Amino acid sequence: MGSRSTRPQSGRYGSAQRSSGSEAGGSAYSDRSRRAAPRHALLTSTPMTVVGHSCHLHYRRDSVRMLHRNDSRWSIETEDRFAISRLVNQQQDSSPSTPIQRALRALTIPLERLHIMKGHMMQAMRRGLSRHTHSRATLKMLPTYICATPDGTEKGDFLVVELCQSQVRTLLVTLLGDGNLNPQMMYKTFDMPEDIMRGEGEALFDFIAQCVSQFLANANSSLEYLPLGFVFPFSCRQTQLNKAELISWSKGFSCRDVVGKDVVQLLQSAINKQELSNVEVVALMNDTVGTMMTCSTEGRPCEVALIADKGSNCCFMVEAHLVETADETSGRMCINTEWGRFGDDGILTDILTPYDECVDEESSSPGEKRFEKMVGSLYLGEITRHVLIALAAEKALFTGSSVAVLKEKGVLKTHQVLEIINIEEGMAMTKRALEALGLQPNERDCSRVQQICRAVVSRAATLYATGLSAVLSFMCRTRDMDQLLVNVGVDGELYQGHTRFEEILLSVTKLLAPECVPTLLPSTDGSGRGAAMVTAVAVRLEAQRHEVAKVLAPLRLTHDDLVQVQALMRQEMELGLGRETHANASVRMLPTYVCHTPDGTELGEFLALDLGGTNFRVLVVQVTEQGIRMASEIYVIPTAVMQGTGEELFDHIIDCIMNFQQKQDLMTHTLPLGFTFSFPCQQVGLDKALLLTWTKGFSASGCVGQDVVQLLREAAERKHHVGLKVVALVNDTVGTMMSCGYEDPKCEIGLIVGTGTNACYMEEMRNVGTVEGDEGRMCINMEWGAFGDNGCLDHIFTSFDKVVDDQTINPGKQRFEKLISGMYLGEIVRHILLAMADKELLFHGNPSPKLYTKDIFKTKFLSTIELNGLAPRQIRQILQDLELDASFEDSVLMREVCHTVSMRAAQLCAAGLAAVVEKMRENRGLDKLSITVGVDGTLYKLHPNFSHCLQRTLRDLAPNCTVSFMPSEDGSGKGAALVAAVACRISGLGQ
Ligand code: ADP
Repeated sequence: MGSRSTRPQSGRYGSAQRSSGSEAGGSAYSDRSRRAAPRHALLTSTPMTVVGHSCHLHYRRDSVRMLHRNDSRWSIETEDRFAISRLVNQQQDSSPSTPIQRALRALTIPLERLHIMKGHMMQAMRRGLSRHTHSRATLKMLPTYICATPDGTEKGDFLVVELCQSQVRTLLVTLLGDGNLNPQMMYKTFDMPEDIMRGEGEALFDFIAQCVSQFLANANSSLEYLPLGFVFPFSCRQTQLNKAELISWSKGFSCRDVVGKDVVQLLQSAINKQELSNVEVVALMNDTVGTMMTCSTEGRPCEVALIADKGSNCCFMVEAHLVETADETSGRMCINTEWGRFGDDGILTDILTPYDECVDEESSSPGEKRFEKMVGSLYLGEITRHVLIALAAEKALFTGSSVAVLKEKGVLKTHQVLEIINIEEGMAMTKRALEALGLQPNERDCSRVQQICRAVVSRAATLYATGLSAVLSFMCRTRDMDQLLVNVGVDGELYQGHTRFEEILLSVTKLLAPECVPTLLPSTDGSGRGAAMVTAVAVRLEAQRHEVAKVLAPLRLTHDDLVQVQALMRQEMELGLGRETHANASVRMLPTYVCHTPDGTELGEFLALDLGGTNFRVLVVQVTEQGIRMASEIYVIPTAVMQGTGEELFDHIIDCIMNFQQKQDLMTHTLPLGFTFSFPCQQVGLDKALLLTWTKGFSASGCVGQDVVQLLREAAERKHHVGLKVVALVNDTVGTMMSCGYEDPKCEIGLIVGTGTNACYMEEMRNVGTVEGDEGRMCINMEWGAFGDNGCLDHIFTSFDKVVDDQTINPGKQRFEKLISGMYLGEIVRHILLAMADKELLFHGNPSPKLYTKDIFKTKFLSTIELNGLAPRQIRQILQDLELDASFEDSVLMREVCHTVSMRAAQLCAAGLAAVVEKMRENRGLDKLSITVGVDGTLYKLHPNFSHCLQRTLRDLAPNCTVSFMPSEDGSGKGAALVAAVACRISGLGQ
């Protein structure tokens, strides 16, 4: 063990003795103080006073005070920070000259060393959580599968069984749903025969079950269902809240046939044998987590628990995705740090004193639990005892009287140490305690012993503060917060009733983790009441999960559902292509008259127009052998123009083109022009397209049924713009396919998932019944957003989809699109959130009035919320924007809702694409098709999971097709120019 390396070589206190009377002596701790790095003043603005040789630390309830002797008079520094700076900086003072000073100094850890230790502890936490380093980590960071803290709504009767040393405690706790303020409790403790602790495992569990049975019989309980929480304070490998294999027994237990088995199962079987069919073991836990569960206050959950008892431990709520050793990825999970083992890898070596080494050596597990042995109340008496022995050997204490009694292990108890430092009666208490041991202390001895006791307890409190700071900073950092306000439940002998311990704990924590504001709360009956809380929360979550699953079930599509959607899409495609059936098909399958994709030989300079939303773009595109160069300008289409007359709209467009040409010095050029016009059109030629209907807020009069290219040409005439040569009008989907096709000749499909959704692909002419000719291929603009408008998808529409549809400007239309695209997903989520709030599954049943506003929940929120790790800062911003008072659990549930909605969208999109690629494969008579989809749209490009889910589902639905996805860059601009370029190449009109 590295931690042993500082152990004195000659005799137990050899080095301390050697140093007696000589500053140059080789004391282990004076050595250490010399080795320590140069210390900086803790508070540089505070003048440091060298602490005299009889420095006392004196803590009061309201502040930390320091007394030091100065010319025989006591002076008091009342400033908190100053006192603490002294506490942690004592080593800054000149070299110690007396054994007492050296001992005190050895027990004092400088602030910067505490900072380093905090860093090490945070690192150890990460190692304990990581799948790769977990097995070697000193902090085991055990998942507890407790994923929520009480929110005060817990209600009902809960049974707790606690296996204690030689006892079984049974409790019946009734929670009233009143914020857990007044739980009613009944309990009974059963003594356990010793032979049971070391007998057959089955006998142990039978005994526990009998205790439960007897307790319930006495309690006259006739409840139909009684969930049970099992407090089992042994080392377990927990894999669910109600599944835990025993790793090893401790605390005097050694029952056979239990190690390696699921103890929940063993208890449940024993309970079943007692015919207690209403009792179900729902949770297993150790006692630390119970402490955390009892200390939530209104509005502030308790997310940390400290046990400052015989042993030492801490648990806290960690972001679940960081817990790589468990499968849970969303929300938070309580992690049992098992931090008592911190330092077992030698990382604490330089702060261990010879006294710690002696305590460790005399313990039943030398070299283990090094941190616990510095802070646990099982050890503080022992540490003190060893300091006293050393000082007596150096003749600094009890001179002239025998100290043989101190050699006896355990003779000085921690509770005596705690009593001795009680300042009111400390001196008298010290004298009494020492005399009771058979020592004969004089006043100076008593004062010195008191100093030592204080130093030992202060060090423990300081180390606790360091651990707590590491935990708090870890939480604050991993939650991406500027400040962490949190309740910390504390339990244990050292904390309860010892205000000086609490004061140091808080003050040092404040220094080490200034970004965190912990509120320490004493826990009452953590293992009993807390266990009931764990059980109650588990039951509440289970009921909530059940309700949530019910709400979301209609949105969760099975493989069979998707296969059916694929088949329906295929059917509608055939109908859309058929000469006779075309008119009634929901998927219109519009011919585009684009018969070729780029082959890379296209050259020239082209104009391109892109109209598909509130912005209108004009571009000039140079297609050269080296690649494509573009310049463009964006123009706004005012709403009045969008909704005015057709003439006004197209005049405005010509004005924009002329403005652009002037800016680009192109007024005298007549360039071929490609026009991306992203509204449903019936194309009757490459440069002839009849507008079928306006969408996206456009309603310019006199356009529907007209040839859009002609409308543009007429406007040019009105404006006397003679140099306009419109070669092709295309849809943005086709533009996307063409722009990707220029990069990858295998790109024969275009897909858009943005505000709306649509797809196009190269179909065999022989299958296109709506256009004459059988030769070659033609790009078909599917207009698949309207899939389902004939009712064929009604079975997958949920009540939420129907409400969203009803509130659109085109109810009953674009039904497929309304399940998939950016314009609607946020709205679907909003309606689900409202429904969940209505069922009190979210926001305590009170959504903000804002959430009732249509379109307030943007589709981009889905991307933010679904980002792994919940991107907490951004989520807080969204919740703030929506004025939602959401708990952490609420935001986890919101994430689940978003995920469900976006996954359904991606799956449906995949089902549509599967129909397309399978048709293309069959068209071409191939066993395998390898093809590329050019894809555009912000939802596809920016959503964190959409594209993965789409591709995964497509692989599943079309296993014979290898489909690559190529995100398009400026498909509608570049694509329009490329359609014009390909048209020029084919017609031989290339420039
Ligand atoms: P369009 O389809 O109109 O050409 P886009 O492809 O840019 O335009 O898509 C815009 C749509 O994308 C909007 O309806 C919006 O809801 C959605 N959107 C915007 N940002 C994001 C984002 N970060 N994640 C998912 N969707 C987004």
